[in-house]
Amino acid sequence: DFSVAARLRGLPQPATIAIAQRARALKAAGADVISLALGEPDFPSPPEAVEAAYEAGKRGDTRYPPVGGQPALKAAVIAKFRTQNGLDFAPEQILVANGGKQIIFNAFMATLDPGDEVVVPAPYWVSYPLIARMMGGVPVEAPCREADGFRLRPDVLRAAITPRTKWLVLNFPNNPSGAIMERPDLEALAEVLREAPRIWVLADEIYEHLTFGGRPHVSLAAVAPDLADRILTLNGMAKAYAMTGWRVGFAGGPLPLIRAMTEVQSNATSGVCTLAQAGAAAALGSPFERVAAMRDVYQARRDRVVAALRDMPGLACAMPDGAFYAYPGLAGLVGKVSAGGRPIGSDLDFSEALLEEAHVAVVPGAAFGLSPHVRLSFAASDAHLDEAVRRIGEFVAGCA
Ligand code: PLP
Repeated sequence: DFSVAARLRGLPQPATIAIAQRARALKAAGADVISLALGEPDFPSPPEAVEAAYEAGKRGDTRYPPVGGQPALKAAVIAKFRTQNGLDFAPEQILVANGGKQIIFNAFMATLDPGDEVVVPAPYWVSYPLIARMMGGVPVEAPCREADGFRLRPDVLRAAITPRTKWLVLNFPNNPSGAIMERPDLEALAEVLREAPRIWVLADEIYEHLTFGGRPHVSLAAVAPDLADRILTLNGMAKAYAMTGWRVGFAGGPLPLIRAMTEVQSNATSGVCTLAQAGAAAALGSPFERVAAMRDVYQARRDRVVAALRDMPGLACAMPDGAFYAYPGLAGLVGKVSAGGRPIGSDLDFSEALLEEAHVAVVPGAAFGLSPHVRLSFAASDAHLDEAVRRIGEFVAGCA
């Protein structure tokens, strides 16, 4: 009889999985399901990346790479951090991994002992608390209130810190709320961090290029260079460059941390696929206008989707300043019953009923630690978005 290791036993099943399974089953049964559940760009990857990967293969760049990353990609990453973020790293301070996700995995595995706490501002991307738990860590939620624009406030951070705190996760632009943190917000957090000198900070900036209304993204390590020796700045190719399947993420940080993370990776996956690294380096060097053009498309979609959601009675939708998600609140619908007779007692109920009755898949806010909300991704075609929004409107109007 098979039983999984203790590190997997207590792990909660994210609500996302049940919804995705049900959406797949409905689709297989012939239903016309529109999924706004995935955070995956609908654009093609840059042609420069595809070409460079092909060329790398043809010239025989097909051997084991160094664990920490190919020199050419590291050089492109260093240039990116310098010009776009104002951060200076030596090659030994960079780690290239199989997606941003492996950076997080490496970092937590390299540093967390049982009982160590990881402050995770909520709402959060589901993987931070799950990976922390897998490593024996204890996620501690720090609520980012809607009234604060879903930004992390210094008093909330201060209240979440204990002598066991090992990490603070800062993910802005945020998945799922779309909130950003501007310079004064980060300066205020830096003040709190100076009072707690032993805390590492994971600055997950993977949505940095997807900010709207001309608002610039600001890196914590650039705002507080005195804290740079404990900030791990994470980024990757998936979101801005529409390269989710290439599995290339990277981070820059203090040498001892990067060394330990590289050791973890060396025992797990070794270096990232050489062809993917060649593609990533080419994409980082490709015309930035393409990234900006995708961002403009996301912004136009955001404007349409949020305007439509705001017209629906019972829904309240903050305007996301970044990423590609809307995170409307459902407080006005809780307690009602859908047209199909399903009671809406929570965001999970709402998501299930919406999927069954309107064939639109969204993710319940419970998965991200802040209810009652749902996350809609606008990384989907205009036609799909318009039809999805039409169906959501009809569904919400039918709730009584
Ligand atoms: N960080 C955040 C906030 C994300 O939303 C994601 C992907 O969904 C990632 C990191 C990891 O991306 P990848 O592993 O594809 O690079």
